[in-house]
Amino acid sequence: MVGWILKKILGSKNQREIKRLKPIVRRINEFDEQLKALSDDELQAKTVAWKTELAAIPELPDQWAKLDEILPEAFAVVKNAARRLTERQHAFAVCDQPMTWNMVHFDVQLVGGMVLHRGRISEMATGEGKTLVATLPLYLNALTGKGAHLVTVNDYLARRDADWMGELYRFLGLTCGCIQHDQPPDIRRQQYAMDITYGTNSEFGFDYLRDNGMAATREQQVQRGYNYAIVDEVDSILIDEARTPLIISGPSTVSTHQYDKWKPLVDQLVRKQTMLCNRLASEAKELFEQGKSDEAGLVLFKVKLGQPRNKPLLRMMEDPEKRKALEKAELSFFQDTRKEELFALKEELFFTIDEKSNESDLSEQGRAFLNPDEPDSFVLPDLISEFTEIDLDPALSDEAKEKAKVERQQHCDAQAERIHNISQLLRAYCLFEKDVAYVVEENKVVIVDEYTGRKMPGRRWSDGLHQAVEAKEGVQIDRETQTLATITIQNYFRLYHKLAGMTGTADTEAAEFHDIYKLDVNVIPTNRPVARQDANDRIYKTRREKYNAVINEIKECHARSQPVLVGTVSVEASELLSRMLKREKIPHNVLNAKYHMQEAEIVQRAGQPGTVTISTNMAGRGTDIKLGEGVAERGGLFVIGTERHESRRIDRQLRGRCARQGDPGGSRFYVSFEDDLMRNFGAADRMTKIMERFGLEEGQELEHPWLNKSVETAQKRVEQRNYLARKRTLDFDDVMNNQREVVYTYRNDTIDSDEPRKLIYEVIEEAVPGKVKEFLGTGAAGGEGNYGALLNWVNITFPLGLTREKSQFETRTVDENAQFLIEKIKDAYERKSSHEEPTAVKSLERYIILNAIDRLWQEHLYAMDALREGVYLRGYAQKDPLIEYKTEAYDMFVDLMANIKNEVLHNLFRSTSNLQAFENFLSTLPQFLLREHAPGAPTATGNTSDVVAGNAEGDGEVKLDLAPVRRDVPKVGRNEPCPCGSGKKFKNCCGRTA
Ligand code: ADP
Ligand code: MG
Repeated sequence: MVGWILKKILGSKNQREIKRLKPIVRRINEFDEQLKALSDDELQAKTVAWKTELAAIPELPDQWAKLDEILPEAFAVVKNAARRLTERQHAFAVCDQPMTWNMVHFDVQLVGGMVLHRGRISEMATGEGKTLVATLPLYLNALTGKGAHLVTVNDYLARRDADWMGELYRFLGLTCGCIQHDQPPDIRRQQYAMDITYGTNSEFGFDYLRDNGMAATREQQVQRGYNYAIVDEVDSILIDEARTPLIISGPSTVSTHQYDKWKPLVDQLVRKQTMLCNRLASEAKELFEQGKSDEAGLVLFKVKLGQPRNKPLLRMMEDPEKRKALEKAELSFFQDTRKEELFALKEELFFTIDEKSNESDLSEQGRAFLNPDEPDSFVLPDLISEFTEIDLDPALSDEAKEKAKVERQQHCDAQAERIHNISQLLRAYCLFEKDVAYVVEENKVVIVDEYTGRKMPGRRWSDGLHQAVEAKEGVQIDRETQTLATITIQNYFRLYHKLAGMTGTADTEAAEFHDIYKLDVNVIPTNRPVARQDANDRIYKTRREKYNAVINEIKECHARSQPVLVGTVSVEASELLSRMLKREKIPHNVLNAKYHMQEAEIVQRAGQPGTVTISTNMAGRGTDIKLGEGVAERGGLFVIGTERHESRRIDRQLRGRCARQGDPGGSRFYVSFEDDLMRNFGAADRMTKIMERFGLEEGQELEHPWLNKSVETAQKRVEQRNYLARKRTLDFDDVMNNQREVVYTYRNDTIDSDEPRKLIYEVIEEAVPGKVKEFLGTGAAGGEGNYGALLNWVNITFPLGLTREKSQFETRTVDENAQFLIEKIKDAYERKSSHEEPTAVKSLERYIILNAIDRLWQEHLYAMDALREGVYLRGYAQKDPLIEYKTEAYDMFVDLMANIKNEVLHNLFRSTSNLQAFENFLSTLPQFLLREHAPGAPTATGNTSDVVAGNAEGDGEVKLDLAPVRRDVPKVGRNEPCPCGSGKKFKNCCGRTA
């Protein structure tokens, strides 16, 4: 309360921050006045002068200070240039369409630009002209000569905005380019070399991965650093897309799946369960009819456990009485005291499926059905006790114990694989609905994005789920893929020295932007007051009633020629509405965010009189809807939401599509108890109570501000949960990120080095002592060393021709022996390469290191994937998966770095840039070595041109599948503390089953 009063008096923090920028706006406008007197040449000369001045400042902080100093004048220069282009009605082309420049920055746009320059998020409503706002800080920050990037949500917008705003930059003497999906590397390099570059997050991110993880020479790299980036539609990119890391993958070398083998059995099992659940459902119905609603609720609960999307169950849920009975049963079972009863209940089914946590479990019956002879083949053995037993067995030698353990481990792995396969198949059958979660096209399973309804060809679910769905649909099961390089969007953007963002909707997620990206949000006032009228939600019991009401509303708008934009959450819903409209003979357009450019054209027309446009969430985002003639008098564009989205932000985004720049406009959401949000997050429960209070009858609709609040409470819960999931993804990726930085730096140092031999010698100096210690221990001279083994290793790794007598290992300390070998190896290496052409040797040396890094890093990524999945199993053993993951990942990384070095050593004398030279070299070696240790001559790497092309084996080129792979996200465990901060367990609080 006190806070509220203070706010009234002092204004919010945001208002104060914005107010503080007002004097600078005044100064910019004063400069703009003065600049009017200059000729074009004089204005353009400013750019050159600033660029020169900034280029002379070596340190980044000093450059930034300078930028702050010149900001008012630099912004004024940009605004003044925009004014000049407007005055002369400058004509040009944008995406091959004629265009006339007609914009001069408004004051609020100057404010937005300053916020962006400060590395914050500008929240500016749709239609406020963010594209133009970005020109101010981009111009200013590009003056450093280090490049400035603008990140868009799709390729079309990158090109459109680069063409459009490029006109202004070019007028001022800066270059501007854009990255497009189909550009070859040399064009990309050109575009990155421009002062300002537009492009999508995935193009930027993949270029980073290719540059740092795959390029073998500087010339193959296209980017030139990460100075300043503005992310347009920043919520969409940093929040919605944050759950899908960018992954470059190739076909996996190992494939272990048995989906096709298990499919027929799982098919039958699912059918048995369906029959069982249908029978239970009709049993429940009878019990209801006999007035035994408690018993009926229990039976329904069982159906829900076994088949949450069971059709008769869903139908019964339309009845508030029956719903209540089920909820009552459910609530009572999730009390801790009834755990065993719950377990017994589950055992009456073949398996259970949890819709919220996306998990499935086989019961005893289910296991017996799948493998009647050996039902235990679906239970993980207790490895720890088995190991202890082995250890305690006096009859076994150490070697036999080791062997037995390896055997048990393998048995366990096979078991785990089988369980995993079955559980993925069950999820594929019971939770992933065809035509909702995916479609089948041309014998392929294509994922449909749950947020946008857009098909995502090329993306695959990971962890075998995609193969499981392929098996279910009976289409070709593709090889599993293996990660070759990966980064999350978040970590890509963290590379930038300065990051900023803009969007119409950031405020509701301000905490997340602050915590994760250190980005603060400033809400910029609109240029004109907002005239949009948001009506209360209308709430119905069933989807059917809801859609009928939506159609009626559309009909009414259409009758008075008011344009309508209808937002849906899925392709399925879009198509359903479209069919209903066809029946009513109402002409309309449907957008599914697939063809960005055509879509932009359709969306542009969405404000014409009488137009009806149906669109999924993301479709046409970034394209402005202007009102047609006479539309303002009819109330402007009307937006209808057909379902409340999981997050309030997406709803706001949809509402924001109308009433731009002070236009009239309105919006309304339609909600039903059958919507996912209502079903899963307890909203329906509370609503039912409210409904009762209102005395609502069957078939009626509800509308009250209280109800909007209730929906929003449900949304806040989901937002929290999703935030936690994203944070968790990031926590896991942070571990990987540190490792990636080390490896990529090592790689780039190798590529850049003019004297790669130094790096090779560093490896020798680091790795040889380690090896020597491995054989000799850390003892002093004359200690218990394993000299023979060391000698053997030396002679199969290096052509030194050492013998027992020559080596005299016994006479030296461990350290002295290491030093002795280092000198010998270096000496031999000098001799070897003296026979070769110096530049070729350099390429070869770089290649030996790169090859070792790449091969082992990829293996490491594979192992890390497995680890990440594996640690979740340990979650059961009361250990925090993240800590487990961190510890093991660290150990694995230490091993990785050591292995890379050993591999370099190993290949040092097995590679040559020139076979002839190698043979010459061999001829200088003692003959016995040739016979014994270099059989069949070298495993040579061919010629240098292969090396330069990064193509090690000549024919072993890796085929890259550059599409990002969708990953599953770790969820909040039911027993973890609830993210809402209540202190209760998640399952007893926000995660409580509806
Ligand atoms: P946003 O990205 O904020 O939704 P856009 O950048 O797409 O908005 O711009 C919306 C429309 O407003 C565009 O048609 C643009 O031409 C127009 N516009 C932006 N700024 C100005 C301005 N200062 N004066 C006139 N028109 C402007
Ligand atoms: Mg925009």
